[in-house]
Parts: sequence; C-alpha cells; structure tokens
Amino acid sequence: MKYDVAIIGAGPGGIFSAYELMIKKPDLKVAVFEAGYPLEKRKCPIDGDKVKSCIGCHTCAIMNGFGGAGAFSDGKYNITNDFGGTLYEYIGKDEAIKLMKYVDDINMSHGGEGTKMYSTAGSEFKKICMQNKLTLLDASVRHLGTDINYVVLENIYAELKDYADFYFHTPVETIEALDKGFKVTYKDGEIECDKCIVSVGRSGSKWMEEVCKSLNISTLSNRVDIGVRVELPAVIFSHLTDSLYESKIVYRTEKYEDAVRTFCMNPHGIVVNENTNGIVTVNGHSFEDPEKKTDNTNFALLVSKHFSEPFKDSNGYGESIARLSNMLGGGVIVQRFGDMERGRRSNRKRIEEGTVRPTLEATPGDLSLVLPKRILDGIVEMIHALDKIAPGTANEDTLLYGVEVKFYNMQVKLDENLETEYKGLYIIGDGSGVTHSLSHASASGVYVARKILENM
Ligand SMILES: Cc1cc2nc3c(=O)[nH]c(=O)nc-3n(C[C@H](O)[C@H](O)[C@H](O)COP(=O)(O)OP(=O)(O)OC[C@H]3O[C@@H](n4cnc5c(N)ncnc54)[C@H](O)[C@@H]3O)c2cc1C
Repeated sequence: MKYDVAIIGAGPGGIFSAYELMIKKPDLKVAVFEAGYPLEKRKCPIDGDKVKSCIGCHTCAIMNGFGGAGAFSDGKYNITNDFGGTLYEYIGKDEAIKLMKYVDDINMSHGGEGTKMYSTAGSEFKKICMQNKLTLLDASVRHLGTDINYVVLENIYAELKDYADFYFHTPVETIEALDKGFKVTYKDGEIECDKCIVSVGRSGSKWMEEVCKSLNISTLSNRVDIGVRVELPAVIFSHLTDSLYESKIVYRTEKYEDAVRTFCMNPHGIVVNENTNGIVTVNGHSFEDPEKKTDNTNFALLVSKHFSEPFKDSNGYGESIARLSNMLGGGVIVQRFGDMERGRRSNRKRIEEGTVRPTLEATPGDLSLVLPKRILDGIVEMIHALDKIAPGTANEDTLLYGVEVKFYNMQVKLDENLETEYKGLYIIGDGSGVTHSLSHASASGVYVARKILENM
C-alpha cells in the first residue's frame, strides 16, 4: 500500500493533522495507525464493583485509542504559551496562539458549543496570589468536560473515517527511511508513504526513543514532574474555580527555592488511576454533567526535577518512585494531610473518620516512605502557602494521593517545521517532547499538516 501521508497515533496531534489535511486537500491518501481501539471500544475494566483497581491491561483504554490520552480527560484546552509546552519556541508565540484558537473553533463546531471559556485576564486573584508568594499564570481555558470532550471526538471521527484509512489496534513497529519517502512496518504488514507524521504521545515514549536511535535522530533528555494529587471539599477552592475554573499557581519554596505548581484542577471532580507502561499513578477528571459532579475538587501539586550529567533517565527516576508506591500500596496510596504532618501512616479508620470522602479507592498509607524528602517538603510548604489564599487547604482531612508523575518525552531534534533531519518525517505532540497538553498537541498537528501541504 502506498499513501501520501501516514500518521502514527490518533491522539489530538494525529487527529488534528488528519483533520486539517481532510479540510484542505480531500483527495490525499492518508493512513492513521493507532495502537489502541476506536473510541466506542475504549473501555477501562475498572467498574468499582468487580474490578476495583488497575489490572494492567496490555493496551490501556485510558491512554490508547482514538482520542489518545486526552479522550477521557477533563478536556481543558488551555490557550496560552505560559504552560502546556514550548511549541512557540519553534513556530512563534502569535502563530501558536492562533492555532490553538483555530483548534478551539473546530471543537466548538463539533459539539463543544455552549461550553465555557474562562480567563485569568484582569483577575483579582493575581494580586492575592502575589501577596502570598504565589504566582498565577496567564491563560484562557476552554472547559469541555469529560462528557463533551467525548462527543467532540465522536463527531470529528464521524467525518474523518471516510477520509483516512484507520488501522486500529495496530502499533507501528518500525519506520524506515527510503530514497523517497518512508516504509512503516506493523505486525501484519507494511505500507509506504511520502510523508510521515509521528504523534505517539507519552504512551509511545519508549518506542519513540527506539525510532530515534534506529534513525540516528538526536534527542535530549528532559524533565520529570513528581508529586501528589490533592482532594478537598470543593467549597475551599470555589472562589477560584468558579471564576477561573483551573488556576495554574506556582510557588517557590523557601527551603530549596524549588518551583512547586498546581496542575490539572478538577472542580467537583473525581480522582482516577492512570496506567503508564504498567505503572499505576494518579490523575483527575471532572464532568460537565451536573449529575456526575462530586462535592470534592482535586488538583495535582508537582515539583519538576531536571537532571544534569551524567544522569539522563529522568523518566526512569519518576517510574522508580511510582513503582515504590505500587510496591507499598499495591497501586496508589492515599494519606490525610494531618497524618502526613504527624509523621504517621493513614489507615482505613482514619480515612473513614475524616470529613473528605475519597473519590478513588486507594490504599491508605504513608507517602513519606515513597516521595524523596526534598519533593515532600516542597509539597507541604505549598499546601501551607495555598492555605493563605484558600483557607482550609491545609486541613487535617485534606487527602493526598500518590504518586502523581508527569512524564515528559525526551526532546527530539526538530527544525522550525517540526521536521526531523529526514525531509518529510515530522514529530509532533507530546511524543516530540515539544508539547504536553491537548491544545499544544492539537495545534502542532494543524501546523505540520499545513507545512506538508505547502511543500506538495
Ligand atoms: C487522565 C488524563 C487527563 C488529562 N487531562 C488533560 C487536560 O484536561 N488538558 C490538557 O491540556 N491535557 C490533559 N492531558 C494531557 C493530554 O491528554 C496530552 O497532552 C495529549 O493527549 C497529547 O496528545 P498527543 O496526540 O501528543 O498524544 P496522545 O494523546 O498520547 O496520543 C498518542 C496516541 O498514539 C498511540 N500510539 C503510541 N505508540 C504507537 C505506535 N507505536 N503505533 C501506533 N500508535 C501508537 C497511542 O495509543 C495514543 O492513542 C491529560 C492526560 C491524561 C492521561
């Protein structure tokens, strides 16, 4: 089989590449390879009844399949250059924002209309944060919610499926550079293509490393963010979440001058397990549907670790810490903040006696046996700093789930077109190390599609 363009990975990066190609050049022959299943077949076996926690499926329905890692996410599209990736370093700040807005328009015309756009612009909280040694980052946030995000993906797929050949449950094994174009090999066959867009996200990070090795493409090791997910009564953060929905707040610790930041805030949401390459970590969701809303808000507190020579394996470091929590807790560990400060483990009784009802079934334990001291100290300091702008954050019953790890792919050497040294081979989205959000990954997809069309 011969294609004009092969796209590897049907997460936001791959989807928006395909969508842009379809809109601008409907006569192209496009293939999309996806390791996971179509959207409607993506079912995590955890039902809270027979299967209560992660059983380590071969293909994780949460991370893989049409929609990628973002399919069951909270669908927060942050339109900003302040976080979510460094796409602007390649394509410029104005272009990056324009593309994120373009993606937002497409989402709005595919079921997202009516969802709310929040903004930090002119927010009174900037000053309040500053007065308490906290920095509120700038962003406009479109909150689709897990349910509407799903509808948008369904609608986009309905249009794409007649345009591109989708190869589901087909992890690509190798990419080979030919004199003209590329050969893409998978378990039961191979295809050739003129251009290849690789958008394999975080779950494809190990495979991406192998591809770069085999094609001799330079990479840089990156960072890893480690921390906990905080869960507390929604009223404690309601003054922030009602007007901003998600506030990205950064704190510089007094002890080490490390930056600790809030990440992925889910008002009235739930805490969930996440399985990355067999390691169970924690994440969060929230829904637009009022019936699915809970009384709790959750968000992550993360500390970034950058390593210098000779250590290169930042993701390996994060995995080891997550593995330690899996070893001690059989999965994710939950601890009351009061127990942590007293230096004692939480047990079932202490959690049950607390006023915050956990939304995730996790093992009560002691996170200080898992998290390095420097990271734990930073998190405790930040909780006390947040308590000044959202009193109650440092309450004894506030729940901390661990560990939350944000893995970053190593950064692939790319030019301003997001193209490798092999002409026609583009690497985009989280798999490139350039982006780490829905909006940046999607924007990178549109960008390379346009670059490909320009060169045709
Ligand atoms: C639970 C959760 C909640 C999140 N919430 C948000 C949020 O609210 N806002 C936000 O901005 N970001 C959020 N994120 C992050 C966001 O989902 C990612 O940044 C985004 O999905 C990256 O898009 P991508 O296309 O680069 O990669 P992905 O979405 O990871 O998609 C990559 C796809 O490639 C496939 N793949 C991998 N290897 C291969 C291979 N060898 N062959 C074929 N296919 C392959 C995978 O199966 C996957 O479907 C969340 C992530 C998770 C896990």
